[in-house]
Amino acid sequence: MIEGKEYRVKKRACKNPTKKKTKVASKGHVLLEDVQIDGDYESDELGSSDPDDSDREKGPKYEKFRKTQLCKTFQFKVGVEFSSTKEFKEAIIEWTVLNGYEIKFVKNDLIRCRVVCKKREKDDCMFLALCSQVNGQHTYRIKTWDGDHTCLKVGENRSATSKWVSKAVVPALISNENLRVTTIMDDMRRDYGVGITFGRAWKAKMIAREIIDGDATKQYSNLWRYAAEIHRASEKNTVKINVERVGPTLQPRFGSFYFCFEGCRKGFLNGCRPFIGVDGCHLKTQYGGQLLIAVGRDANDQYYPLAFGIVEVENKESWR
Ligand SMILES: [Zn+2]
Repeated sequence: MIEGKEYRVKKRACKNPTKKKTKVASKGHVLLEDVQIDGDYESDELGSSDPDDSDREKGPKYEKFRKTQLCKTFQFKVGVEFSSTKEFKEAIIEWTVLNGYEIKFVKNDLIRCRVVCKKREKDDCMFLALCSQVNGQHTYRIKTWDGDHTCLKVGENRSATSKWVSKAVVPALISNENLRVTTIMDDMRRDYGVGITFGRAWKAKMIAREIIDGDATKQYSNLWRYAAEIHRASEKNTVKINVERVGPTLQPRFGSFYFCFEGCRKGFLNGCRPFIGVDGCHLKTQYGGQLLIAVGRDANDQYYPLAFGIVEVENKESWR
């Protein structure tokens, strides 16, 4: 055992000079490496069985935050690392709401985030947390954490923002299309012990709907890409987008959209009787409009889709 230990010390001794070479190359790492080497000596004395277990030297010194760990009893502490201040903020808001406290961000920018209790003045609660960037890297670490709230828990929590509530609303809204705002308020009280106002619950529902359905406005701007893709698939597919130009400085507005697939057209010409029926239906989205469709009848006397159009209103102009 003693022999083995000497051997180890010798090995370290010759390992160190090589390390020193790297230290010259990057002065910034001097401190960190020194600390790690010290740590290794300590663990050797404790009776480490594998002296060449040098992987431990490179192992993470700080704990990386994982979203799945977050719960009411989660322990934040100095040294926990986040990938962005946004991640830290979301985590601390969730933790705060679950525990029934209220916080405010006194410093809040891209590289640092300082949080205090909202009742700092009123209840003399000295809760304080600071998370900031580490040496210009893409890592943000908790540098200060004095996590003991001495204030009283609140019933109606303003830290439960509509954005935060909306995340909890999304699954409920998917399973129940007609989810009521009052149900959201009840659910939040039951599941999280958080009281929220009607207005906030309503806003959360709107955000959740946007998350599920996507942003309708943005989808309109994807229309050009869709048209290009239809063209790419087959050159004989026909697509037409009409836009209205309100003014020279304003963005063009959606007018109408028409498309017909080559396959549909061929099938109609070769296998259907020469009848075309036309009809339209209303689109139940934020912006309304109507979907027009031209159909034929196939050999089995079934409807055969031929061409589609989306217009603002069904009139003679739009059918052309
Ligand atoms: Zn507090």
